[in-house]
Amino acid sequence: MSVPAPGHPRRSPPGAPDPLSLKGFFGVFRYSRRAIELVWSTNRALSLALGALTLLAGVLPASIGYLTSLIVDAVVAAIRSGGTDTSRVVTLVILEGALVAAMAAAQRGLSLSQSLLRVQLGQRVNEMILEKALTLELSQFEDSEFYDKLTRARREASSRPLSLVMRTFGLAQNAIQLVSYGVVLARFSPWAVAVLLIAGLPAFVAEAKFSGDAFRLFRWRSPETRMQTYLETVLAREDHVKEVKLFGLGPRLLQRYRDIFRKLYDADRALTVRRDAWGFGLGLIATLTLYAAYAWVAVSAVRGAITLGQMTMYVTFFRQGQSALTAMLSAVSGMYEDNLYLSTLYEYLETEVPPPSGTVARGPRPQDGVRFEDVSFTYPGAQTPALRNVTLHLTPGASLALVGENGSGKTTLIKLLTRLYSPTGGRILLDGEDLASFEEGALRERIGVIFQDFTRYQMRVGENVGAGDERYFEDETRWREAAALGRASTFIETLPKGYHTQLGKWFQDGRELSGGQWQKVALSRAFMRARADVLVLDEPTAAMDARAEAEVFEHFRQLARERITILISHRFSTVRMADQIVVLEGGRIAERGSHEELMRLDGAYSRLFTLQARGYR
Ligand code: ADP
Repeated sequence: MSVPAPGHPRRSPPGAPDPLSLKGFFGVFRYSRRAIELVWSTNRALSLALGALTLLAGVLPASIGYLTSLIVDAVVAAIRSGGTDTSRVVTLVILEGALVAAMAAAQRGLSLSQSLLRVQLGQRVNEMILEKALTLELSQFEDSEFYDKLTRARREASSRPLSLVMRTFGLAQNAIQLVSYGVVLARFSPWAVAVLLIAGLPAFVAEAKFSGDAFRLFRWRSPETRMQTYLETVLAREDHVKEVKLFGLGPRLLQRYRDIFRKLYDADRALTVRRDAWGFGLGLIATLTLYAAYAWVAVSAVRGAITLGQMTMYVTFFRQGQSALTAMLSAVSGMYEDNLYLSTLYEYLETEVPPPSGTVARGPRPQDGVRFEDVSFTYPGAQTPALRNVTLHLTPGASLALVGENGSGKTTLIKLLTRLYSPTGGRILLDGEDLASFEEGALRERIGVIFQDFTRYQMRVGENVGAGDERYFEDETRWREAAALGRASTFIETLPKGYHTQLGKWFQDGRELSGGQWQKVALSRAFMRARADVLVLDEPTAAMDARAEAEVFEHFRQLARERITILISHRFSTVRMADQIVVLEGGRIAERGSHEELMRLDGAYSRLFTLQARGYR
């Protein structure tokens, strides 16, 4: 992803309205509707409460101010009439007290509903993000630009929808207040209302501009922030600590972490200083306007055009009108910010995922097995193909071993077979049907794979085995059977809680396993899949000794008599047991045949085999 230098004009992100145009201004409300829908569908009762309380909190302040002016005038009138009749004054004061209490209740209720909604909405949005993640392709996770989008969506947007809704409601509340003040002020002079509104405009334009800058900054720095998060992980997580300590990488990586912060902070500071300087200058205009209006109202009172009560009320309303306007403007600019952030959330949620391909559960020729027909594949963004014109046929009962140097394309071939990627040329058939036509669940049931970088779940040992077949994730009997075949049962039974021992260091009482023990767990996971038609082991046995590996593979083959088994290994003692051996070189099939045939051929296989055999002697 190209990173423009700060200060250079950058492409506006999609969904970022230009605040200075009318369309841009209304763009501010673009996501408000969706945010409100989101809140509404999250909890209707709370949303209704929020709406009603907002309305109440909107009309109460002006009513209170109006009562105050009535009280002042009633006091003046009572004094003039001899100071005996106080009942009207007292009634009005009691009424105002009641309204103030109601206002406090409304505000408390607002903050209560907000807190409850915030929690629910945060959870809801995070669930939406994770649910979407389930539908994405492996290639999307490997795409750094997309990964940025995901990180941005996760980091910020879960708190933003409520913020946007609250600002929308806040805007409504302040608008109601402003209208009620305006109606009263217009009785003094419509000009007063005009002055009030116009004086607030510059502040708004400035706010909207700075919010846009803040967002662009946030978006632009996303790769750096990601690097920071990554460095945090490397410096402070158990699986990295060993190397970082022994290689003494700590101080250097920490320095990198600091440098990134420095760079980000400089940009932040510049923006904050500019924003506050403008805020101060424009705030000054508002104060000047207020005092000009004050003088005008006071002079009118002296001239007897308005009463003393009205004077206090007008001045108060002008002041409160200004605060309501400021609150509205900052709500709008805040909404602008929320909108921009929300646009990244929806950009992520609306990422196109390939339509669920295929509906077929079986192919027309069940005994045909797996065919690669002239398959080529180039990774997205890569220059050279990882696989070129691979043609292969494996019938049920066949075992295949893939051999080749690192990077020769072995794992890629498996990724294509499991449809984690689709071929860029040629096609792969299962039972005579294109792999692409299979229904995803049906395909997954038929192919079981354990990769060399299998996942070490920080869960119970049993669950780590059960993970191999989701339907039996919790099935203890199946765990035991699979663990016996994967040669894991012996050591699992010596663990303190047997199959219920927690693994990994993240959780209390978690046990760490040795590399070889983990591999046995992973292999057992493969045996959970014993009924799959195609079983693949991509080097998960490298940490076992040669004899254990050969034994496991023998097990594997016996179990898989009617199945296709594919093995990737660098150990020729195991490889030679396979019916068919394919040697890959630079993504092409260089040699193929049984062990004997390849030895007779006297090519790359035979050379490597002899080399390794000599090493063992
Ligand atoms: P092997 O399993 O034989 O060691 P791979 O199939 O993993 O080799 O890799 C084949 C080639 O594809 C290598 O050149 C590697 O750099 C490249 N490659 C592997 N995975 C990716 C990926 N996710 N994105 C881009 N290139 C990749």
